[in-house]
Order: sequence, then C-alpha cells, then structure tokens
Amino acid sequence: MAIASINPATGETLKTFSALSAEQIEEKLQLASDTFRTYSRTSFADRTRMMIRAAEILETRKHEFGKIMTLEMGKPLKAAIAEAEKCAWVCRYYAENAEHHLADQIVETNAKKSYVHFQPLGPVLAVMPWNFPFWQVFRFAAPALMAGNVGLLKHASNVPQCALAIEEIFSSAGFPKGAFQALLIGSDAVEGILNDSRVVAATLTGSEPAGRSVAATSGKQIKKTVLELGGSDPFIVMPSANLDEAVTTAVKARTINNGQSCIAAKRFIVADEIYDKFEKRFVEEMRALKIGDPMDESVEIGPLATPQIVDDLDEQVKKAVASGARVLTGGKKIEGRGNFFEPTVLVDLDLKAPVSCEEIFGPVAMLFRVANIDEAIQVANATPFGLGSAAWTNNAAEQTKFIEELEAGSVFINGMVASDPRLPFGGVKNSGYGRELAEFGIREFVNIKTVWVATDWTDHRND
Ligand code: NAP
Repeated sequence: MAIASINPATGETLKTFSALSAEQIEEKLQLASDTFRTYSRTSFADRTRMMIRAAEILETRKHEFGKIMTLEMGKPLKAAIAEAEKCAWVCRYYAENAEHHLADQIVETNAKKSYVHFQPLGPVLAVMPWNFPFWQVFRFAAPALMAGNVGLLKHASNVPQCALAIEEIFSSAGFPKGAFQALLIGSDAVEGILNDSRVVAATLTGSEPAGRSVAATSGKQIKKTVLELGGSDPFIVMPSANLDEAVTTAVKARTINNGQSCIAAKRFIVADEIYDKFEKRFVEEMRALKIGDPMDESVEIGPLATPQIVDDLDEQVKKAVASGARVLTGGKKIEGRGNFFEPTVLVDLDLKAPVSCEEIFGPVAMLFRVANIDEAIQVANATPFGLGSAAWTNNAAEQTKFIEELEAGSVFINGMVASDPRLPFGGVKNSGYGRELAEFGIREFVNIKTVWVATDWTDHRND
C-alpha cells in the first residue's frame, strides 16, 4: 500500500511519501538503541515534565490535529478534536501515575529484604491502525515513555501525516530525539525490524492477519507482544432495560467513527418481548443519521477510510443477503465522490452463516431476536472474537450473569463500551492478548525483576 494521505470524502490525494530506505531504517534503529541507554536513566520527574508538556501541546493545538485526522481518515471533525483531547488525558494520567505504578513492591520472605523492581525493556515497535490515528498511538506511547522505554511507530500507510504530527508533539515536548520516532514504512518492512535485536518487543493494534504475522515473527525471536485485534461486540437488550436510552446508545455505539471502531457494537441481541419496539426505533434512528462531509460539524457519519473498506463492506452485506438476511434500511454504497456507505440494518441473519460472526467495519448493524438470557449469552459468545460487550438490563441477577458469562475483555452494563486511561483495555479469544491502559498497560513492557537480598544492605540508587 502506498504511503499517502488521500481525503476519503473526496478521493483527492493530498500528499504522498516515499518509504524509508534500508539505510534510513538502520539509522533510526541505532538512534532508538542509543537513546534508550540514556533515556531509560532519566527520572520520573523529568519524564513527567515532558509528558505534561505533550498534553499541553495536544490541548492547545487540538483543532489543527483534528483536521489532520479528518482529512486523512474521514472521522467527523468534532470527534477528531475530542480524540486529541483524550490523548492529552492519557498523557496526564501516566504523567501523574507512572511512578506509583512502577514503584518497588516489598514482599516479605525469608530474605533480609525482597522486592519487585520494574525496569524498562528498550525500543518497542508499535504497529498501529488508522481508525483512531492519534488515540491508538498515545495509549501505547504515554505508558511506554513514562516507563523509560523508547517507541518506534509503524503507523498505517493512509495516515502518514498523523504519524509525523505525533513524532513532532513528542520532540516539541522535550523528549530526546530518538525517544519516539515515526517510521514511514510499508507492512513488508515490519518483519525485518522485528528480527533486529535492537527492537525488544512489539505491540500491534489492527486486524487478525496482521496480528498473527507480527506475533509469529516475534515468537520466533522470543520477543514479548501485545495484540489488540478486531471485535464483533454484542449489545444485548433485555426487557427491563430503559429502551429509549438503549436505542439511542445502540445507534451511537454502532456508528461511532463512521462504524470503524474495534469496540463498536456490531451485533444487537434483543429479547423477544421488546424486540419489535427496539427494531422499529433503531431503524428510524439509523435512517435519520446525517451523512456527509466530515468537516461539517453537523454531520454524524462521514466517509469510510478507503475505497477498499467500502468494497469489503458491500461484499459482506451481499453475502448476508445471499444467506437469507433482510435489509431494513440502507444496504448500498452511496454513488459519487468519496467512500460513503448507507447506515444499514440487517435482520433475519442465519447464525451459521460466516458473516454473522465476522467483524463488520462500517455502519452496518445486525439484529438478532432471542427468547431469553441463556440464548442471548449463547449468541453473544458465538464469535471467534472477545473484545468488548454491553448488556442492558435493570435486573441485578441478569447483570451478574452477563458479567460472569460474556466471553470478552470488558462488560459494560447499561452503558456504551469505551476505553478509559484508568481501566485496562484488551480482549480474549481472537481479539488478542495483553492489556493497554491503567496499571496493567504500563506493566506490559517492563522487566518485572525479582530482587532477593540475604544480608544487610543499603540502597544507594538515589545517592
Ligand atoms: P490492518 O490492516 O491490520 O492494519 C493495522 C496496521 O498493521 C497498519 O499499520 C498496517 O500497515 C499493519 N499491517 C498490516 N498487515 C501487516 C502485516 N502482515 N505485518 C505487519 N504489519 C501489518 O488493520 P486496519 O484495517 O488498519 O484496522 C482495522 C482493524 O484494527 C480492525 O480489525 C479493528 O477491529 C482493529 N482494531 C483493534 C483495536 C483494539 O484495540 N483491539 C483498535 C482499533 C482497531 P499498512 O497500513 O501499511 O498495511
């Protein structure tokens, strides 16, 4: 895939970039390795100062960064500006908490003193997707840099200006040259970088095939990986739910980011007793969404990021219809300029048809009618994915059953699945492994070192 910014709303090529040469990659890897030697010894106070500065830059220039995101991948401008603000939040969160997350932990044993000590690992490669082109990167970079690691970013090929803007934010914040570098490379260059001994670990957010490939190469090299992959999140509505709130949230949860979110609700599983009411209102609200230029603040659905995504979505809808599904609204590409697809609702899906458990990356919702909570859980768990899940019910026993039995990295009761710096984020099954955010996220890329001292000893590290 060429490295280029192409406006998804118009198809206009805004800027193209050449991929780095082998020599340029070599220079950047060496710089990362050299920088790690000094940067890993900086104090938490110094790192905190720089990370707070990064947050301030994001806040001050959020409109500029929002515009870069919208022009490259098509999300509504308002959401893009909010994304820059959320990145500032994660920078502040780790600036304030990293030292505490990584403080020595004394453990009483038969030693004079024994404790757990956390140390950075080295240069970490982050392979990132275009859908939240700032947020996905910052939720890796903020904890990694606060822990004393250095970051190498291989961003998606359609968001190079986002990649360069993020690199510039960290350097303007005072982080040393080499603490965070964007590598403008295609995915074919990733294997060579993972095989390089200077790169010690990798994290990938993206599709299942990309995750398998990065994990396989890293596995051969015995390097730690974190994988944040796809999802087909269930959104379950039971009879005791507040229906108005559930419907409005369901529409938002399916169409956020023009339907291109790993944790978007993709399968709506509704109890028979309230199904007809839910379906009617859900279809009405999906049909009423305003589609158009994402730079227009009143637009709710912008274009999909690339023409390929529109074609893939079209193919999935056709396959669903061929296997018996009915289209209640939408169902087609919007002809003309830009990568637009109609907000779509599919019903009567055959649960055994492959499309029913595939990830659908666009504004297409699948509705399922179920008889009771057991069937709801069975349908919810009938995919290879296990990222997020939401259940709407005001019955306490049902809430407990959903929390226990949904196979997912998160369960939201009466709310919309969302990431939050204070809570861990990640999946089970084919949605990946490892966690980002919170204390769990910062501990993924550190050496959890056991220290055991038999005799009297004084710690001189802070002398
Ligand atoms: P993608 O095609 O897998 O691309 C993601 C990144 O991986 C890009 O930088 C891409 O580079 C690179 N890549 C692709 N194939 C690779 C390979 N074989 N080896 C190494 N790198 C490779 O995914 P996408 O279409 O951009 O993003 C959508 C997917 O990401 C969805 O499945 C979504 O659910 C998932 N996602 C998951 C999370 C989460 O937290 N779990 C969050 C957001 C998105 P190029 O652009 O150069 O191909």
